[in-house]
Parts: sequence; C-alpha cells; structure tokens
Amino acid sequence: MTIPMKRPVVIGLVIVCLMSYHAFGAADWQIIKVNGHDYLTVENISKFYGLPAEVVPAAGDKVQTQTVKNPLEFVSGSREVIINGARSWLCFPLIEQDGKFLMSRTDVAKTIEPLVRPHRVPNVGNVETVVLDPGHGGHDKGAVCRYGSEKDFALDVARKLRGLLQSKGLRVIMTREGDYFVPLDVRAQIANAARDSIFVSIHFNATNDDPDATGFEIFSFTPRGAPSTSDSAVTPTSLSMQAGTVVDNQSLALSVCIYHSLLGHIPEFDRGIKRARFAVLRLTRVPAVLIEGGFLTERGESRLIANKDWRGKLAAAISVGIENYRALAIKKQPPMLVADYRRQTKPTPTEPVIQEGELKEADSSLMDLIGNSAFASPQQTSTPSQRVSLESAPIIP
Ligand SMILES: [Zn+2]
Repeated sequence: MTIPMKRPVVIGLVIVCLMSYHAFGAADWQIIKVNGHDYLTVENISKFYGLPAEVVPAAGDKVQTQTVKNPLEFVSGSREVIINGARSWLCFPLIEQDGKFLMSRTDVAKTIEPLVRPHRVPNVGNVETVVLDPGHGGHDKGAVCRYGSEKDFALDVARKLRGLLQSKGLRVIMTREGDYFVPLDVRAQIANAARDSIFVSIHFNATNDDPDATGFEIFSFTPRGAPSTSDSAVTPTSLSMQAGTVVDNQSLALSVCIYHSLLGHIPEFDRGIKRARFAVLRLTRVPAVLIEGGFLTERGESRLIANKDWRGKLAAAISVGIENYRALAIKKQPPMLVADYRRQTKPTPTEPVIQEGELKEADSSLMDLIGNSAFASPQQTSTPSQRVSLESAPIIP
C-alpha cells in the first residue's frame, strides 16, 4: 500500500565517487564553515565511505525508494536521504554553496555514520533482555479504526513478538501484559532497570491531515542540539539545546536493523527512520526505538493491521531486526538491508574487506570529526522540563 508519487526528475548535479578506504585519513575531512557552523561536502562523505552518492533536486514529492540506484541519495535543500534503499531524515537540510552540496557535521556523526555503518557504532552492548512496550492501554485506546483500537493491535503484536524472541533465547519483559494503562515514565524505568536491555515500543499511526497516508516509520531519540523530524525549525541557528542521550547512535543502529527488516519483509510505504523526543524515548537510558506499524486511518492499511496473520508477519519482521541488532554486538556483523531481505539471501558483509590498519585510520578520522563536533555533547543527559506528547501530530516532516 503506497502513495503513488512521481520520482523527481534527476537533472541536478550527479556526484559519483568510488574510492577505496585506504587513502583516507583525518586530514581528508574538509570542514566548510557556513554562518559559523560546520559542514562537509557530499563528495567528501562519499569518498570517506567509498559509496557512490547522488544529489537530486527537491521536487515536492518524496523520492520513490524503489527507483533509487545509489547507496547514498540526497535531496537538495531537504532533510530527506535514502541510505542503502531505506528513507531516513537528517537533522538539518542539505545546503548548496558554490556548486557544492553540504551536510552538517552533526548529521555526518549522528545520522550518516550510524546508518551507513551500524556495525561500527561503539559500545553496542550485549543484548540479554528485550523490553517490549505495547503503546497505550486501558482508558488510552490510542488510534481507533472500524476494526478496533491501536492499544489492542499493539498488545497482540508484542505478545506474538515475545514468543519469537524467547525462542531465540532472549529474555522478554512486557511493559504491560493486558489492557491497562502504564505511565510512560514507568515504561522507561522498566527498561532502565533491566540488565543489558533494549526497548522496543509498538504503535500504529493515525492522522487527520491525509486519509491516504500509509506506511511504516521508526523513531529514535533526537540528538542534543538538533530538531526532531517533525519540527519545522531546522537550521543550526535555531538549535534546540534539549539533552540527547548517551545511546543516540546505538538507538539509531537499532532503528536501522528493525526498519530494514520491516521494509524487506512487508511491502508497505517507506516513511523513514526519524527522530522524536517522545517521552518513552527521552526517559530510557538504553537503546530505544518506537515503531509505527502502519495507519489505522487508511482503509486498506487498517484492514491489514486488523488481520492477525498480518500482525504475525509484522512481529516476525521486528524479531528478525532485533536478531540483526544482537549480531552487531556479538559479531560486529552488518545488518541485512532491504535488498538483502527482498532477495531472501543470507546475511553477507555489505562493505569492502579492509585491513585492520586501514580500518583504524578511517575510524580515527571519523572520531576526530565526532569528538570535535560543534553540537555533540553526549554527557548531558538531564531530563528537560518540557514534556513532549507521545504521538507526533505532523506526519510529513
Ligand atoms: Zn500510539
């Protein structure tokens, strides 16, 4: 179920760079200052990762991921990017200056790196416990359609998922076992109290703005100093200084693993990997994501969600994604990507084999970039006073 859209005509500058890792060191990052903020060129990023990149002009509509050819596809003036076949959203839009396309340094460190190389995210810990959080409950029905309520569909997916994860040897804790409401801070505390845990919140979407809106999306917590995907203020000069968490990149890696599995197993529209300051994401201190498994406000998709076999497929796709995240910690194995699932092949490494010495060089240059970032400050984790509602009203960033 996808919204028919025209792919923007590719008339913009096409940048294609293929380069092996070995010649790349710290000196090769060329930081460009724009209004006091640090940017890097798309060409520079493409060279660093050894991945072909393309910049297409913004044309109003979202890029159709099915037609994307390059591992890195950016949209001029937009926060939209397609990375390895899945949509994602930058913190800040791509800008153009002197014929070059520039990306904020924050996004290179906080978005591009964990999305392109989730298996290199530091401190991805061993996963022993999965805390499943079926959204809403009790008096809080969540979204409602003619077939039922979000709270019931989410609980059913979590129950199905629990069995699948337990059969793989994972411990599972549910934030709620039945139809009752659990405060959002309690849900987060359950995850924080569990050893070696990750937190997976399950929801279904709704909107009053567009009855045809469909598709999957997944959220992790917005990094410090950055706007959420649904925020309209998106320049580095309008920074929100709300705290991030110490597990920003681990959470994004978890998003990548689950989201590629979702899209790879179930052909729903790709709304993308997004950021939000939902309470359950803000209050968790462990890798945490919130999945929106389709729209109850769209006729066809609500019928799917109401089908228990389809919910079983959804649970199975999430469980495979969680397995892939666990493999990051144990084997540093890159997760399977949308295309891998669609080909139904076994997991294979998705990057060139490189020597250990070369690896260190590439990594240290990136660490310099992250360490010196004008925006990054991972130690600040105090809870901001402003509370953000669990659901995001705007659905199109
Ligand atoms: Zn919800």
